[in-house]
Amino acid sequence: MEGEAAEVVVDAEEAAELEPIYSALADRGAPRRRGNIGCSGSKKSEFCYLCNYVDTPDASGTLLKDHILTLVDQGKELHFIAKAVQAIYDNELREFSVWEKEGGKTIVEKPEWKTSSIVRHLLMSSEFEVIFEAYQSQVFKSMIVRQAERVVDMDSGSVDEGAAKALMTTMRNFDEHKSRMRLLGNKRRRVDTKQDLG
Ligand SMILES: [Zn+2]
Repeated sequence: MEGEAAEVVVDAEEAAELEPIYSALADRGAPRRRGNIGCSGSKKSEFCYLCNYVDTPDASGTLLKDHILTLVDQGKELHFIAKAVQAIYDNELREFSVWEKEGGKTIVEKPEWKTSSIVRHLLMSSEFEVIFEAYQSQVFKSMIVRQAERVVDMDSGSVDEGAAKALMTTMRNFDEHKSRMRLLGNKRRRVDTKQDLG
């Protein structure tokens, strides 16, 4: 009995059990509670038009992608783009879409493409890196605004050094992030120009 009791204490002292943030290995042993945050196409329970129709000769997937990139160029936010994509899908593509669920065991005609699934594809699929970059900028901006809201001591009116330091760190990191993005943008433009000339 003493041994058992000691074991319980050891377990309690152990750090929380951690799971992969993005697992590259097949599931072995203990089941994970959360899967990878990838596109819904990787989730058997959800339909994703872009994942399902990406390799078909149908041009609608390509046209949809072009439209998404145009909205990104216009500086539209993630949820605005997702809603626009969903409207196009519902109005023009859903009627002709078929989802072969579970490797074709179940056929779903005119499947629903949920906003959350669209957002996941836009954010996590490597074909829309620019959307993820815009998301990173939004995270930085939100962080800066939130941090700036809590800097001054309400009683004394003096600046809280710790809070100010944290705010300045986020601002500096955001500036570095923007510089990197500018360099990357220039690089992309150079590649595009070369391709246009070639
Ligand atoms: Zn997808």
